[in-house]
Amino acid sequence: MAERTGGRGRAVHRGRVVHAAHVTPHMIRVVLGGDGLAAFDAGACTDHYVKLLFPAPGTDLPEPFDIDAARRDLPRDQWPRMRTYTVRAWDPAARELTVDFVHHGDRGLAGPWAAAARPGDEILFLGPGGGYAPAPDAERHLLAGDESALPAIAASVERLPEGVPADVVVEVAGPAEEQKLAAHSGVRVQWVHRGDRPVGEGLVAAVRALGAPTGDLHAFVHGEAGFVRELRRLLRVEWGVPRERLSISGYWRTGSDEDGWQAGKAEWNAGVEREEAAALGGA
Ligand SMILES: Cc1cc2nc3c(=O)[nH]c(=O)nc-3n(C[C@H](O)[C@H](O)[C@H](O)COP(=O)(O)OP(=O)(O)OC[C@H]3O[C@@H](n4cnc5c(N)ncnc54)[C@H](O)[C@@H]3O)c2cc1C
Repeated sequence: MAERTGGRGRAVHRGRVVHAAHVTPHMIRVVLGGDGLAAFDAGACTDHYVKLLFPAPGTDLPEPFDIDAARRDLPRDQWPRMRTYTVRAWDPAARELTVDFVHHGDRGLAGPWAAAARPGDEILFLGPGGGYAPAPDAERHLLAGDESALPAIAASVERLPEGVPADVVVEVAGPAEEQKLAAHSGVRVQWVHRGDRPVGEGLVAAVRALGAPTGDLHAFVHGEAGFVRELRRLLRVEWGVPRERLSISGYWRTGSDEDGWQAGKAEWNAGVEREEAAALGGA
């Protein structure tokens, strides 16, 4: 796995929309460019992410924007709202940052922003952070997630080492949401169609059906927090995969916006860890 890079990078970047278009009916690709990306760089990790900044209702972001000053000087309800998005691609020569947004309906900030994005629109963001890239010494890889993790999974697939077997299992709403992945011949890609089932139900079943791995498995598992918890239990408790070979976390939570999910995430993770320790006999 790659070394974790500072998720709370303080540099604020200003991206200008160069291009925005649907990749699939519910995935919108926004390419950001402009001089405001002069200090941006990414590449060590395949799960690099940025924190997009949206003004709190009824406010504008102060110019020039300084996140530390904003937090020091403004009441909490006026702090900008943050939304976390993967660096799907970064082209330093063209100075272009590609971000893929799930358009999950009219609720929220980032999904609707992407749906309305037009060339020339601007957005401020922090980052990048990141913590994963496929380990070159793993004997087998597993990449599993929903649409929110697909940008990181797609970027990771491009860096899977030749000759090492890998399973990629992605749950999407239906066949129209599948994307072409740049996978080498040793990579088995499975698309799970959610249909009317709850998010993650089909994905958990598909990963379980792979069977316990032989050899040193490294896994990247992200998406809705409820199914991530189930897959973590499968990998850690049932299959005995060591913690340090897993990149595993909830990217979002049904029924919570990102502010709510992030506020409760530490407690959620502590609960997951307690459960796991008890199941592994360490509690
Ligand atoms: C490290 C990291 C990387 C991420 N990368 C990406 C990425 O590249 N692309 C991406 O689309 N998302 C990504 N996410 C997830 C994204 O941050 C959340 O989905 C976020 O909540 C979306 O913000 P929003 O303003 O659109 O909706 P919010 O205001 O946060 O939520 C509004 C409502 O929509 C629901 N909701 C949120 N996300 C989804 C979803 N994906 N499907 C269905 N319902 C949803 C919430 O439960 C809530 O009810 C990433 C998250 C993390 C932590």
